[in-house]
Amino acid sequence: MVGGIVGEFFSLKEETDAELLAMQCGDFYEFFADDAELVAEELDLNISHKSSHGSSYPMAGVPVADLTPYVTALVERGYRVAIADQYETADGHAREITRVVTPGTLLETSDADAQYLAAVVSGTDGYGLAFVDVTTGRFYVAEVADADGVLTELYRFNPAEVLPGPEGRTDELLLERIRGEGTTLTLHTAEAFAPGRARYTVQTQFGDGATDSLGVGDLAVQAAGGALSYIEETGSGVLASITRLQQIGDGEYVELDGTTQRNLELTETMSGERTGSLLDTVDHTATSAGRRLLAEWLTRPTREQNTLKRRQESVGALAEAAMARDRLRETLDGAYDLERLASRAASGSATARDLRAAAETLSLLSTLETLVAETPSLADSALADVVSRPDTETAATLAATLDAAIVEEPPGTITQGDIFRNGYDDELDELIAEHESVKRWLADLPDREKRRTGITHLSVDRNKTDGYYMQVGKSEVENVPDEYQHVKTLKNSKRYTTPELEAKEREILRLEERRHEFERELFEELRDEVAGHAALLQSVGRALAEVDVLASFATHAVRNDWRRPELHEGCALDIQAGRHPVVEQTTAFVPNDLRLDSERRFLIVTGPNMSGKSTYMRQAALITLLAQVGSFVPAERAHVGLVDGIYTRVGALDELAQGRSTFMVEMQELSNILHSATEDSLVILDEVGRGTATYDGISIAWAATEYLHNSVGAKTLFATHYHELTTLADHLDRVGNVHIAADESDGDVTFLRTVRDGPTDRSYGVHVADLAGVPDPVVERSADVLEKLREEKAIEARGGGGEPVQAVFDLGSGQFQSTNDESETGAINDERERDQPTVESKYGAGVETVLSELSELDINETPPVELLARVQEWQRELE
Ligand code: ADP
Repeated sequence: MVGGIVGEFFSLKEETDAELLAMQCGDFYEFFADDAELVAEELDLNISHKSSHGSSYPMAGVPVADLTPYVTALVERGYRVAIADQYETADGHAREITRVVTPGTLLETSDADAQYLAAVVSGTDGYGLAFVDVTTGRFYVAEVADADGVLTELYRFNPAEVLPGPEGRTDELLLERIRGEGTTLTLHTAEAFAPGRARYTVQTQFGDGATDSLGVGDLAVQAAGGALSYIEETGSGVLASITRLQQIGDGEYVELDGTTQRNLELTETMSGERTGSLLDTVDHTATSAGRRLLAEWLTRPTREQNTLKRRQESVGALAEAAMARDRLRETLDGAYDLERLASRAASGSATARDLRAAAETLSLLSTLETLVAETPSLADSALADVVSRPDTETAATLAATLDAAIVEEPPGTITQGDIFRNGYDDELDELIAEHESVKRWLADLPDREKRRTGITHLSVDRNKTDGYYMQVGKSEVENVPDEYQHVKTLKNSKRYTTPELEAKEREILRLEERRHEFERELFEELRDEVAGHAALLQSVGRALAEVDVLASFATHAVRNDWRRPELHEGCALDIQAGRHPVVEQTTAFVPNDLRLDSERRFLIVTGPNMSGKSTYMRQAALITLLAQVGSFVPAERAHVGLVDGIYTRVGALDELAQGRSTFMVEMQELSNILHSATEDSLVILDEVGRGTATYDGISIAWAATEYLHNSVGAKTLFATHYHELTTLADHLDRVGNVHIAADESDGDVTFLRTVRDGPTDRSYGVHVADLAGVPDPVVERSADVLEKLREEKAIEARGGGGEPVQAVFDLGSGQFQSTNDESETGAINDERERDQPTVESKYGAGVETVLSELSELDINETPPVELLARVQEWQRELE
């Protein structure tokens, strides 16, 4: 048993399941033992050693005033940090854990993005979810049917911390996926999720009727209760800012599963970068709250036509009013993050500067209102409703109250006074007047004394040990009057005090303390008043963010010539001269048309590799998505039938780069689409069945096409390298073919990037092999083989000893048949192990091996993943 301070540290550590404990020891927070080493390493702190009962323990500390940034840095790296504060007791002091700061409950985050804490509970008929952003007080609940639904929401909210309910702790598959995202998993006490207890917690927070009026299901209530209880337990004191319970997933939104959000690169690219995402491209917001809202809209497009029309109307009006837009932006530039402020006021961490900023931001609302009212095109648009939606009167009153209370440039702390304006509180003013008068008395003291005593070098000062004193130069000490009492002798001077000075000293200390104490109390009162208006701050913050996002859409539309899409409830999607919103930023983009309607719902897209098939299909999905967010779109004209979901599945090759390509994943995604899509959905399939052998692949792609066409009826774009599928258009009514044109002359392929009706005549794989740097002899021989196959449907294996083997390509079966094979069924591929031709050396053994392997390789029979691997192997061999 370790005693002393280190012993206390260990016993406090027992009380918490946080990874780290910071324990206050006077003016420092200290970490000991393993914690000290970890923290020193993470934060580059110095380690010292603390001896305790004959042992020595590593120790690392940070000054009390610096705790927040250090803890923030640790928590942002995924650690949970418990904080034990020291407090005075009758016989000395004691310590207890007052807070646990965790990734999902961190208030002082350095990141402007939303920061969610999630709770997930499972039951017999699905899952309940709760998502809370303690920095803004947002609180959402949902119920979903299966684990995929959970993952979809987890992907969208991207929580920093997840609390699985008691049953979820054994759901290894789910836990694995959560951990895979680098999210902190916390096992909060199981009782908090129990139905009765959770319901009680939720009702205490939101009022008795909240769950009933929203029709929130039991599982969602359990999740919500668990999350609220956890927030309370961590002691951040932020519950008061969580004022509104919102339910998601009631059919208002477009279904967008995690895979689709990733494939469409909505908030980050497939490689995890922000730059190059849709969000990054269209973001011209001026505030962090605006950016958060933009991200929310992009990942949650809606089907509510009225909402969309109102947004479009505002964007249109803003696009036309360039001057007003500039002024709006300037106004927003000065806005402070009100949603976050509401949380800080509730948790008691807001300073006078925060409240000053809140006042200024609240008053921006009326600036915006005036601006909108004065611009005729805006005044008549839906934007006017956005700025007048919050309770503007109360907002103005609160802004005026705060403005009248707090000085223009308040200090960063609330314990040193100088917070309030003169006239805010009579008692405070009196106290200040008294304080100031004593201060003046002291300030005038040296002159008074000089005059009275004739001493020329006399000053008044104060320090910690001597208190207030008068200091007289050595040469004049003879002249000090009798009532001066000697305090201290220095080298060149002496210090004195007088009974009067001592009395004033007591007075000034008393006044100073009372003044600071009183200001702090008044401030806390004011802060509580602001916390009581958390819902108002959130609604003003939300309105400002909305204006910011709408203005951002307008700016982007003007700069990039985006147009307002026409929305309708039908199924047609008609895009004229459409572009890809992200690719057009960096490329001279060739616009393309797209038309899908009730007669033509399913398009098979063919064309050479790299010709632009993926881009074309994603462009269709992104234009639909942007239209359902309320934005303008990159097209000359777009007629968008509102969809209930967008589903995508991208090819094995793209995913290979991510290192997560397996045929199983591909089929799971396909299965999800076939189960979930409806006739109102948009489905994008970028290669299906590539991860398996040709016949399996074609069969699956064929059957999936039939199913989507006959049973689901979803609008579908399907890019495939199986040319066989293009014949489906002849058999299925609503299937059409388009291809992306390329020009081939003198063996060079030029991509035209233009989409034309009808299937492509062939693929250009050899050309791509050339581009990829496959050695010339190989490329030339491939071109040769291809040519022969096209013309003669036959090819002879080169360089083999003995009988040359003639192989004929049978179009019907898609296989090579050996002409020497009498049975007609033995494909060369099956025989190749046994029939290895011996190679006559012309280029050296290595090259010959590669050549022979290459000529034997059946492209149709080899999954592309393996193809790539083999090409790489050959390249290595040739080097
Ligand atoms: P595929 O899916 O056919 O292999 P991609 O869609 O990946 O081809 O496009 C290949 C390249 O062509 C990309 O770098 C893309 O930026 C460019 N590209 C595609 N479509 C266009 C277009 N319409 N105009 C200009 N460049 C395009």
